[in-house]
Amino acid sequence: MKPEDIIAAVKEHNVEFIRLQFTDITGVLKNVAITVNQLDKALDGELMFDGSSIEGFVRIEESDMYLKPDPDTFMIFPWTNNGSKIARIICDVYDANQEPFIGCPRCTLRRAIQEADEMGYSMKVGPENEFFLFHTGSDGEPTLKTHDKAGYFDLAPVDKGEEARRDMAITLQQMGFEIEATHHEVAPGQHEIDFKYEDALKTADMIATFRYVVRTIAKQHDLHATFMPKPIQGINGSGMHANISLFKNGKNAFYDPEDPNGLSQECYYFIGGLLQHAKAMSAITNPTVNSFKRLVPGYEAPVYIAWSEKNRSPLIRIPAKRETSTRVELRNPDTACNPYLATAVMLKAGLHGIKHKIEPPASIDKNIYNMTPEERKELGIDRLPENLLEALTYLQADGVIQEGLGDHIYKRFIDAKKYEWQSYTEAVHPWEREQYLTKF
Ligand code: GLU
Ligand code: MG
Ligand code: MG
Repeated sequence: MKPEDIIAAVKEHNVEFIRLQFTDITGVLKNVAITVNQLDKALDGELMFDGSSIEGFVRIEESDMYLKPDPDTFMIFPWTNNGSKIARIICDVYDANQEPFIGCPRCTLRRAIQEADEMGYSMKVGPENEFFLFHTGSDGEPTLKTHDKAGYFDLAPVDKGEEARRDMAITLQQMGFEIEATHHEVAPGQHEIDFKYEDALKTADMIATFRYVVRTIAKQHDLHATFMPKPIQGINGSGMHANISLFKNGKNAFYDPEDPNGLSQECYYFIGGLLQHAKAMSAITNPTVNSFKRLVPGYEAPVYIAWSEKNRSPLIRIPAKRETSTRVELRNPDTACNPYLATAVMLKAGLHGIKHKIEPPASIDKNIYNMTPEERKELGIDRLPENLLEALTYLQADGVIQEGLGDHIYKRFIDAKKYEWQSYTEAVHPWEREQYLTKF
């Protein structure tokens, strides 16, 4: 969209406010709301804001930042706020010297995309977004209650959650999302909405928007939508499986009809790269203390670093479709990840595999959970980090993933997450009181 088209659309639809959106390094959507009067200036990239209060951005002394709107992301929200229409534009963050800001996650993803482009590839990603819908209590605060009895793919709209999910899909469609599937997930109160794969940057933008829309619509139904990876012990957590493919000269570069599995050599190397960097990457794709409570045996979430063409237990699965739809499904990312940084490191790891011709180990078509530790050892199957601290330690040892993040984001991320870990280890958990309060 051209700036003049945006201005015309804003006038035509009587938009009152425009939200200039971006994310901090933890993936939280931030926005600066402007009025129509400031739109011209904003579209010229001249709008300044103070970056010092944003997680992972800059210090007070160097806090002047510019927001550079990406006109292609202009969109008018289908709902109104107290009767007024609101639009949004996603922005890249630029520093005081008018250069892409090294702490801007969207610019970080652009860098990885540029690297792929130089090798002749463009990356496509299709995410499978899972989330829980909980009822809010009389005080408006979220509870852990769901009224639903529905199971996986159940048809009967047995609860408010079903209605809310339908509304979410309709709203997203109005906003230009091509919804491929929406269904109830395995756990009570758990849902999934999948949209069609797109170029990596567009998908990352869509994931950020998606989370915002899902929360907004849930609220309209007096529900709370959470993307927390494992809100309840003993039932499935929420993942964000990433279906990844590379395209070259308009064709799917992961497809090779000559190969017995229908996969190209580049695809094998890409898998090799993802597996080699999986442990370090998990700090970014599974970035919270809670994330690692999902990655345990028994809940359809991956634990072991392996790949398979059929079976769902390993980290990487190759869905059956071939030709244009040939893709690699990476199953560990969760819904708390920063979509820009997660996509950037997945791409970086895969490209590293292609550049260095990293052959993946043989595929594992047996259920890994049923193997004994000895069998796994014999087959060389390692596991993902068991907790955030372990993941951070692997990140600190992986120069490729660090380079993918850039020095600034890497350091800020480690600092923020070490702090998070420290605060968690100091907390006295209800589990400890259950175990020890009366025993000792
Ligand atoms: N909820 C599962 C997870 O944590 C995934 C279920 C599925 O295969 O869709 O990854
Ligand atoms: Mg699912
Ligand atoms: Mg999946």
